[in-house]
Amino acid sequence: MQIDPIAVRANAGPAVATQLAAQSIVQEIKGMGVPEEQEEKMPNDSFDADVIVIGAGPGGYVGAIRAAQLGAKVICVEKEYLGGTCLNWGCIPSKAMIGSVERLQHVQHAGKLGVKVEGKVEMDFAAFTARKDKIVQTQRGGVGVLFKKNGVRHVEGFASFKDKHTIEVKKPDGSTETLRGKNFILAMGSGVIMIKIPGLEGGRDENVWTSDDAVTAPFVPKSMLILGGGAVGCEFSYVFNGLGSEVTMVEMMPTLIPMMDADLGTELGKLLGRQGVKIKTGASLDKVEKTKDGWKCFVTSGGKTEETDVQVILLGVGRKAMTDNMNLEKIGVKLHKRGVDLADDTLKTHVPNIYAIGDVTGRIQLAHVASMEGIFAVTNAIRGENRMMDYKAVPNCVYTIPEVASVGLTESEAKTKGYDVVVGRANFRPFGKPMAIGEQDGFIKIVADRKYGEVLGVHMIGPHVTDMIAAGVAAIRTEATIEFMAETIHAHPTLSEVMMEAYEDATGHAIHKI
Ligand code: FAD
Repeated sequence: MQIDPIAVRANAGPAVATQLAAQSIVQEIKGMGVPEEQEEKMPNDSFDADVIVIGAGPGGYVGAIRAAQLGAKVICVEKEYLGGTCLNWGCIPSKAMIGSVERLQHVQHAGKLGVKVEGKVEMDFAAFTARKDKIVQTQRGGVGVLFKKNGVRHVEGFASFKDKHTIEVKKPDGSTETLRGKNFILAMGSGVIMIKIPGLEGGRDENVWTSDDAVTAPFVPKSMLILGGGAVGCEFSYVFNGLGSEVTMVEMMPTLIPMMDADLGTELGKLLGRQGVKIKTGASLDKVEKTKDGWKCFVTSGGKTEETDVQVILLGVGRKAMTDNMNLEKIGVKLHKRGVDLADDTLKTHVPNIYAIGDVTGRIQLAHVASMEGIFAVTNAIRGENRMMDYKAVPNCVYTIPEVASVGLTESEAKTKGYDVVVGRANFRPFGKPMAIGEQDGFIKIVADRKYGEVLGVHMIGPHVTDMIAAGVAAIRTEATIEFMAETIHAHPTLSEVMMEAYEDATGHAIHKI
């Protein structure tokens, strides 16, 4: 039986039920135990809270907790699930799916490492889905526990402004509560939208999925066309190809993951292609037609149009800031076409007691950026400071297998900025650890300034690179040089020594280069 993913989402339980479930789930969060509840702090003046955070995604919940840690009385209003897009529809469920598919592939290819596996190895889709759902619920429950521990009051419902210090919250039971806040943090994030393509006029249609539908996929489609070769499109192409779908991915730009260094996109295209994903770059989805079993897609690249029949179309592009029906402009918060307009990098909007963070600003749409912005915004609000966010060293990761990770300037950005660029590169293939674990694809590329040797960019594709990028972030934040990094002792045998070799290559002295 096929289940409509839209109905699955609509029928998902309310946040109240989630919180109750969380109390039992929390026992499973190792080492966390049941925390002592903190006493609610006294309100300031005539306000219900010093800080009211709207939205409990990774921006809002982190900001709320930090505000409480700084001694503020905090309320966090959330209309749906604690954890926002990230925990419920984004980072976490997608990585849980990837984790299962990766294990399946490890077992399928275990013979290469001398492990004998007998019988049919396949995914148990029901167990796969249940595991992912449990991870999501556990993470969501964890946020509720942290709110209790830190004395953050969680108010369920949809917030809209009455004036710059007052919101009205419409609760799930139809009642309303008026709350007065000294400061507000807008952390409403973004949501999926159905983009318009001839044949798909922007409305909901059968077997046209957004990323929300893909993470709650009720079945494995026989075939699917994924529109968009960014991080989301690539990750789902890895998952559904690994689950057995015939996947075609269509990307308008000449390489996949076009926001990253072009060499990474080219390599990822090659490696996903080797796994069986059909990749069409420099291509556009011109129109679609409904068929008996799904959709006929007309894809044009290089002036030639091809027809592809698929069961499901997955829109890997199209998100919109959640700013509707909140009276934001009425109280003076300015909007631009991608979301809330910020006055500056202190994260203030054009109303001084109202800050905005995360996806709702339409700037960098990454969970870890939202969280750091949450910390900066509440610290500025509570302490009356004006510290600016620094976006020089923001890691950007794609969790396909192999993984992709990047920080700083790409080679072409560095050249455009006028640097005399030097590049260092090392492949994983010849090194001991990648060989030992049987994961040898990929490389690490360093972009540096020739004059002073400053590391400008670190770009990686290969095993576990999303865990290694932190070293690149630190190098860029501390303005390290390639010489300094090449003389930094890296353990042997590790994946990280490939990074040392790439730094050495940039200095012109790679030891293991033939
Ligand atoms: P959100 O997480 O969107 O949270 C906003 C919250 O505000 C929501 O819960 C919403 O219900 C609530 N809200 C909205 N309006 C109101 C209102 N008026 N009243 C009350 N509550 C309201 N990023 C990464 O860094 N790494 C990844 O691996 C990654 N993978 C992703 C995979 C997918 C499939 C998708 C879609 C996204 C992924 N992202 C990833 C992006 C990441 O999820 C977002 O950048 C992040 O969730 C943004 O956090 P946020 O707090 O700004 O907003």
